[in-house]
Amino acid sequence: MARKPPARGGTRLPTVGQYLLGFFMLVALLLAVFAGLMWRDLNRVMAEARVSDQAAAVQELELARANLLHQVDALAAVLEEWDEARAQLEDPSYYAYWRDSRATAYEDLPLRPQDLELYDAQGRALTREVRGNLPARLEPQHIQPWLARDGDTLHAYFALPLRDPGDQRLLGYAAMRFALPAALSQVRAFRHLDITTLEIAVAPGTRVALEALVNRAHFRPQPNPYMQRLEVLARQAGYQLALGLLAALVLAYWLLRTIVLSPLRRLTSHVDALRAGRANLLANEAGGLRVREMELLRQALNDYQLRLEQLHGDLANKNKELWRMAHHDPLTGVFNRRALEDDWRQMLASAGSQQLPVSLTLFDCDHFKAINDTYGHHVGDEVIQALARCLKSALRGNDRLYRLGGDEFATVLWNTPAEEAARLAQRCLEAVAGQDFTVHGVKEPVRMSAGIAEARSLDENTRLELQRRADLAMYEAKRPGASKIVVYSETLEDRQALLSHPETHAVWRAMRERERLELHYQPVFDVATGALSHYEALLRVRDGERLVLPSVILPLVEMRGCECELDLAVLDRLEQDLKAGRIPAGTGVAFNVSGPGIVQSRVVERVLALANFLSQHRLVLEITETSLITRITEASDYLGRLREAGFAIALDDFGNGYSSLRYLAHMPVDFVKFDRELVHSLTGRDRQAVLVRDLARLISDAGYRLVAEGIESDEMLAAVRAAGFHQAQGYHLGRPAPLG
Ligand code: C2E
Ligand code: CA
Ligand code: CA
Repeated sequence: MARKPPARGGTRLPTVGQYLLGFFMLVALLLAVFAGLMWRDLNRVMAEARVSDQAAAVQELELARANLLHQVDALAAVLEEWDEARAQLEDPSYYAYWRDSRATAYEDLPLRPQDLELYDAQGRALTREVRGNLPARLEPQHIQPWLARDGDTLHAYFALPLRDPGDQRLLGYAAMRFALPAALSQVRAFRHLDITTLEIAVAPGTRVALEALVNRAHFRPQPNPYMQRLEVLARQAGYQLALGLLAALVLAYWLLRTIVLSPLRRLTSHVDALRAGRANLLANEAGGLRVREMELLRQALNDYQLRLEQLHGDLANKNKELWRMAHHDPLTGVFNRRALEDDWRQMLASAGSQQLPVSLTLFDCDHFKAINDTYGHHVGDEVIQALARCLKSALRGNDRLYRLGGDEFATVLWNTPAEEAARLAQRCLEAVAGQDFTVHGVKEPVRMSAGIAEARSLDENTRLELQRRADLAMYEAKRPGASKIVVYSETLEDRQALLSHPETHAVWRAMRERERLELHYQPVFDVATGALSHYEALLRVRDGERLVLPSVILPLVEMRGCECELDLAVLDRLEQDLKAGRIPAGTGVAFNVSGPGIVQSRVVERVLALANFLSQHRLVLEITETSLITRITEASDYLGRLREAGFAIALDDFGNGYSSLRYLAHMPVDFVKFDRELVHSLTGRDRQAVLVRDLARLISDAGYRLVAEGIESDEMLAAVRAAGFHQAQGYHLGRPAPLG
């Protein structure tokens, strides 16, 4: 049976590609966070740098102011020393000329003011035309340098006393004006402050003390070239890093795709193809799997596939061999009875509703028993082999020869009427007659007889009927003085009826006319409570007033190998009784299944079809120990299925023959039925009684329910109760009888 491949789990799981994508996204996210942090730090450093630049610039401005003051002082000192200046103070008559053409051109001045005015000791300007917004008269407040706006331009104003360097006598005053910020850059080189951006908050028309210069100054610091360079570098590094990482990710993705993902896809689709049974070996194409592990996997897969194919081949061979063994007779090599049954079924299936004549011919060696007894089994076997060879050589190419057992052979001739079969049989018998058996040491002539029966409508029962008819014909052929080949006819029936045992006849008839099969039910009681537990269905064949018992029926059925047909018939009968309500609801029923039946799926399926009665009845299947032992594994499988379905299993006739606790342990059974003789020995006083009691306890302790059969007296019932049996059955408690 081909096992269905398990349903694919995991289709909802992410693929490797998705994992990779997820991984890359995570890496990208981490990088982004990392870059963000870096960016923040960089900005902080830059901000700190800006703050310190600003401080340095302020300091520079402060120093420039101090320098300016200093230079202005120095300028005053030069004026004090300069005799021309002093001369002006004493006599300002051509002061205006001096101021415009001499004073500002004087080379010794450390700093050149935009405007310069001299004042006398009383603070009056030496001229009326004061320039550069300088005051016409100096007031005390002018001693403090100041800032004022003149139009757009900002100026710094200074007024200083000029004293005689010798006696320190006050000579007068000098006031001057400088344009800012030009004057500042003249007294100092700015590194931190961009002097061109310097703005000082002085409203037009107001004066502000020079001291407030720094406080009122607005400017941009000179950009720090190192910081600028650093920023550019950091930015570049950031871009390059991002670009590099992106490239690395793309490369990694591509690599993983080519070395992991696509080989993995190839491998899985190959395994799929393998499962679907349409895979060649996984070839290593150019640019194949590329990775050693994948390559090893590919090789391992191929090896595995080769081994699997080999195994398949082996298995197919084994199967063929098994089939051969199961369908062939080991002695002669021709087909066996089972093959006949299978072939018949197959032909039935393929013939459909076609009506074709089919002839069944039975061959049987005359006096074979005598040959066997006289020359021994070895010679007997050789004779049978020779017979098989003769028959096969005489049959047509496609006709199959079956050995049914002993010296009995059969062939089924499809689409062949009886007359044609008779001609073929004739050829066969002649072949046997022409065979030299003296080579095997047999001196007497070896002859065969043949019985032929023909059928025109086919079904499973026809085969049994055909066999029976061919048997009858054979019986006729064996009669002294009769023709060696006999074709069945109605007249044989009557003669046979007279000749054969009437019970045999009744059994065969019942196999054809199923209503003649009856089931009688014997009650089984609970030993402890005395309550009815269930019935056992026992087979009877109705023959007029008389009943034929299993002791007659079963050997006949076994002889013909139609136990399964009997089982099916019994099960049909049981179903009828169940449907008709003959078995009271709430009680159970036990039924017997033959040894061959329990390993036949059609019988087991038939039993399983009764499962719908399980809701009303306990159903117990009884099976004899002997039949279990011979095909224990097959039987166990079926019994397991039946138990799963809810049937109970009883091991029948325990103690009759093979009894072995060792087997019991392997059998899936619920009840163990002790054989009548074992039960009877319980009432004795000898060692066997003790042994049986011990055995009963042992089995009961192992968890099985014990049933005692054949209770024929109160004494026996007491004995089985004492021995711990759970259930009992016997003529003393109730005889088998029809129900309902
Ligand atoms: P079994 O399964 O062991 O059935 C019990 C047999 O003991 C029955 O015989 C029953 O009539 C008989 N019996 C019951 N109580 C007593 C008693 O107190 N004393 C004595 N001496 N015998 C008692 P039966 O009906 O002749 O059946 C014989 C065997 O034939 C059965 O033995 C069973 O193995 C087989 N058999 C019966 N019915 C079927 C059937 O439907 N199918 C198959 N395959 N076999 C069957
Ligand atoms: Ca039984
Ligand atoms: Ca029994």
